[in-house]
Amino acid sequence: MSVISNDIVLFMIVVIGAILGYKGHSLTLSGAFATTIVGMAILLAFGAQGLFLIGTFFVTASYWSKFKADKKKSVEDKIKKSGARDAVQVFANGGVPALLSLLYLLFQENLLLYMFITSLATANSDTWASEIGSISKSKPIHVLSLSRVDAGTSGAISLLGTLSALCGAFLIGIISHFLWNEVTFQLGLAIGIVGFLGNLLDTLLGATVQVTYTCSNCGLNTEKTNHCGQSTLYKSGLRFLNNDTVNFLSIALGSLLILLFTM
Ligand SMILES: [Zn+2]
Repeated sequence: MSVISNDIVLFMIVVIGAILGYKGHSLTLSGAFATTIVGMAILLAFGAQGLFLIGTFFVTASYWSKFKADKKKSVEDKIKKSGARDAVQVFANGGVPALLSLLYLLFQENLLLYMFITSLATANSDTWASEIGSISKSKPIHVLSLSRVDAGTSGAISLLGTLSALCGAFLIGIISHFLWNEVTFQLGLAIGIVGFLGNLLDTLLGATVQVTYTCSNCGLNTEKTNHCGQSTLYKSGLRFLNNDTVNFLSIALGSLLILLFTM
């Protein structure tokens, strides 16, 4: 009699998910490895429920990034990396959830579960905002100057992107209520609110301290270190704060913010 253990099936789901992500061009090879590591950490700590939640993020992020991809061409031109996510991008979004999973393995504290869910709510909110917001027909507004700027500019918001951010955050909060007895409906809603705030923080950091470069050939302001076949020039912001570090930071701060709702 051979019984395949549940854990092995779940482990296979992680690996197959990463392979499908690579085959479907949602992940680069390094991104697929990083996804396997993040998925493993989450699986060890939170089992099938944790896997379902990160799967929701992963599948919807892949779906939205391909949704109306032709309309995003000019926006992708501004954003440093596009299309397939590499290891750096996977860890920018999945690093905090993975670290919180490892901490949960050690300490088994419910607070770490709530922080884990909130980190995914923030990551999902941010991803939905940028992937769906970038197909908005009207030009977005810069969150500080309130003037209209080109789509894809860091710190820019649109109505469509903001509504998407809300939906992305609350989806994770509400699903988590159905996955864990410990997560009451009110807590699920609080996680939705905090996930959305985490995304706002991402936008604010993008508008203030994130590094920006200018292309000396075409004048484009961009996150890219290369444009028009040449190196771009530093324009403003902190050099170590690119889109990935800002992502990581806002997800970390977002997950800390849920503690205010649970004390
Ligand atoms: Zn250029």
